[in-house]
Formats: sequence, C-alpha cells, structure tokens
Amino acid sequence: MIVILKQNPNESQVAHLKTWLEGKGITVHESVGDSHVILGLVGDTSKLDKDLISALDIVEDVKRVQEPYKNANRKFHAEDTVIHVGNTQIGGGTLTLMAGPCSIETEEQIIGVAKAVKAAGATILRGGAFKPRTSPYAFQGMGADGIELLKLAKKETGLPIITEIMEISQLTLFDDVDIIQVGTRNMQNFNLLRELGRQNKPVMLKRGMSATYEEWLMSAEYIMASGNEKIILCERGIRTFETHTRNTLDIAAIPVLKKLSHFPVIIDPSHATGKSALVESLSMAAVAGGADGIMIEVHNDPEHALCDGPQSIRPEQFAKISAKLCALHGFMKTMED
Ligand code: PEP
Ligand code: MN
Repeated sequence: MIVILKQNPNESQVAHLKTWLEGKGITVHESVGDSHVILGLVGDTSKLDKDLISALDIVEDVKRVQEPYKNANRKFHAEDTVIHVGNTQIGGGTLTLMAGPCSIETEEQIIGVAKAVKAAGATILRGGAFKPRTSPYAFQGMGADGIELLKLAKKETGLPIITEIMEISQLTLFDDVDIIQVGTRNMQNFNLLRELGRQNKPVMLKRGMSATYEEWLMSAEYIMASGNEKIILCERGIRTFETHTRNTLDIAAIPVLKKLSHFPVIIDPSHATGKSALVESLSMAAVAGGADGIMIEVHNDPEHALCDGPQSIRPEQFAKISAKLCALHGFMKTMED
C-alpha cells in the first residue's frame, strides 16, 4: 500500500501515523520527494482500512498495490480449489452439472425431476426450500419440509444436494445437505458468511446482483477467514440497463475470477436471463469460456411452477443441453495447451 502525504504535513501527525502502522506489524518506507512525502507500506496490509487512512488530515491519497483479499487470492494459493461431494468433484477439470427446480414443491415433483436430471447427466441436484422472493405475498418455499423432500430425492438417486440458506438459525436443518448455497441477496450478509466459515461443508457463494469482483471475493474471504476453504463461486447475472433479460450474464467473470482466485466457477444461466429459451446458448458460452460447471433450473411443468417458471426448462430439454455441454467440454479439453 502506498500513502501519499499532503505538502508540508504536520510532523507529529506523520510520526503518529508511522507508529500506529508499525504497531500493526507494517514496515514503513519513507521517500521524500520535492513536493510530497510518500510512505511505502510493506507487510500484511489486507487488514488496513484504506478509507480510514485516506480520511486523515495529512493524507493526500492512498493506493493499494495488493488486493485486500488474501486467502481467496490466487497469488497466495496457486493450486485450484477442488471440492469433493458424494462421488463427484467440482473443479479440477471436470464439468459439474447442477440441475433441479427453483423450488421444491411436492415429493412427486422433486423425485421426478431428480431422476430425470440424473438420467440426463446431472451431477448435483438443486432445489430451493427457503426462497428469497421480492414479494412477501409470493410462495416463500416449503422450508424444513422442502429440505426433507430434497433429502429423500438424494436417497432415491444418490445425487448430492445443494439448497439455499437465508439465515443462521436454519443451519441445523442443513446437516445432510452437501452444499450450502448463499443467494445473491445474502452475498454480503456478513454474520451468515462468518458462521458458514465455521462449518466443514462446501458453500456456493452467488454473486450479489450489483457486486464487483472485489466485493464478491471479500465475501469469500469472510468465509475463509473463519476457517472454511470449501468455496464455489456462482455468477448469476448482474443488474445493468438492459431490461430484455432478467439480468446480464457476465461471462468475463469466469477468466477474471480464475485469475484472481483459486475457486471453481459455476454459471447460472437461468437467473442470468430469466428466459428458458436463452439457457442453452448461455450454458454453451459458459463452458466455452472455461466455467467449471452450470446450474440450471429444470421443472417438470414450468407453466405451473410456483417460482421462476419462465426460466425453467423441461427435463427433455435439459437432456439435450447436457449432451451438448459434455461434448463441448470434451472438445475444449482437446484444445488445452
Ligand atoms: C436460486 O438459485 O434459487 C436463487 C434464488 O438465485 P439468486 O440468489 O441468484 O437469485
Ligand atoms: Mn429461481
């Protein structure tokens, strides 16, 4: 981190700043120029509050040389993180296909969809039990009963399961859940992230709808800071000026996050577009772009789905897309250098 001081700064305030920084284990290198004094801070600056230093009377500007996230940073963790659940793995060159309904509705629905997506190549079953809905009058999910049905579907098919948590108090229900999903609206629920950091269970962290890469990785840092390294990132579209699609899929997130961090990256084309007709193209784009997997909403009767019907595809459509994605992934592997 570099701190540029104002001209003729108050010397005792400069000395005070240096002592304070040194007290935090930082070595301060002072360079005196014609017009400005520059302090070069060396050490673990990730815990320093840039805004706090910028606000000091004697400070003109502060620049970070290093990213504020350390555990999530590829620079300090060169190997890819690979997550193992059930008989499958996420990352490490595999293609993960997560599929299932937006929300669990009935036993027949979740078991039927689970069997169909498994037969079509899905490796993980998704289904929401706690649904973060924009309207308080919309279906809020089946809650604990939904998780029981999802567990039943896991038993029937052997597929590992992923479902969303909305608050810490729900954690006791997640004992048999393989991956805990943090939704876009909770990406910065820091208390929840800290608690998930204390669990020995993979967490899929969806991108906040207006979150920068740095904010997203800082949220992953929260989970890692409390000890849990099993993190998967999921890009699900961000808010832009475009209204044709529900969100705008940020494909650049794949190569950028793989460079900045070591986590597997999953793409969710369903929430990114809000339209079932666009799911195939964006899934193909994601695999071509190097994603470690896809999460797709699949429903046996999208017209009557209690949540996100317009973006849900039928199991037969999933089977076709899954075959294309596997073929594309195989082709991509032949191109690796
Ligand atoms: C979901 O995956 O069920 C969901 C609610 O997604 P998001 O948090 O991305 O809106
Ligand atoms: Mn949904």
